[in-house]
Amino acid sequence: MISKILDIFLLTLVLFISPCFAQDKCFVTGFPAGETTIHIEQKCYNPCNSKITFLNLHDNEKTSVRAAEEYLLQNGGTIIRIYNRGQRNVSFKLKNKVYTFDPNRIYSEDGRRSTIKFLSNRINEDAENEVAYLANEILNNYVDSSKIIIALHNNTDSNLSVLSYQREQETKINWGKVFINPFMDPDEFILTTDSVIFNGIKEKNINAVWENVDSIRDDGSLSIYAARNKIPYLNVEAQHEHLDEQCAMLTAVQEIIKEYGKEKGETKGDELPD
Ligand SMILES: [Zn+2]
Repeated sequence: MISKILDIFLLTLVLFISPCFAQDKCFVTGFPAGETTIHIEQKCYNPCNSKITFLNLHDNEKTSVRAAEEYLLQNGGTIIRIYNRGQRNVSFKLKNKVYTFDPNRIYSEDGRRSTIKFLSNRINEDAENEVAYLANEILNNYVDSSKIIIALHNNTDSNLSVLSYQREQETKINWGKVFINPFMDPDEFILTTDSVIFNGIKEKNINAVWENVDSIRDDGSLSIYAARNKIPYLNVEAQHEHLDEQCAMLTAVQEIIKEYGKEKGETKGDELPD
């Protein structure tokens, strides 16, 4: 029995540490959530600019990580990932009950409450506090000191696209703006909360969404937190397995990433984009 436990322990150790060997600076940190430990990896590519932060919150969105790693090998920067056995939503145990949340809906109190309630069919204050602790650790350790955040996401065909944002734009006044390149797949787009970045993406003729955070409900998304805290934010979104397209979008916006990455790190575009 003891040897079996030891085997599992060693296997876990190898699984968590092995992705780190390839890079010079790599850390895996465990954060407690109830009786569960959530592992987050920070991997730095040369030149190691830890202020240009690529962030993968959904562990099932692997294509976006591969695209970012190709970009980072060429350009340097840091990638942060939640290890979650390839799952989108994170679960933890607290007093013999399991709670689940979407790690991109936890950066406000309302957001946390509704994602836990929706995905766990239960809610209590202690569970909310556990998730609040994790959210604050993610923000304090990886987000707040970043000069620019590049969030990495993948979607399935047609569940989320530049067209779904366009439909929302038609029904909600001041929601935001959408730019569509009719020759691009609508599942491939970049979302930002910064109007200057939005105009820059448009100039590259890439599908773009500008979120006007002043007029949308705070659902706990990282984009809204970043905008409210004046941290420039891009979400590079492509369909699962569309690696070339996701790489091409990252390459197209590399000037924007580098420009913001070397400056003080304050969002420039608070005004309506063109
Ligand atoms: Zn995602």
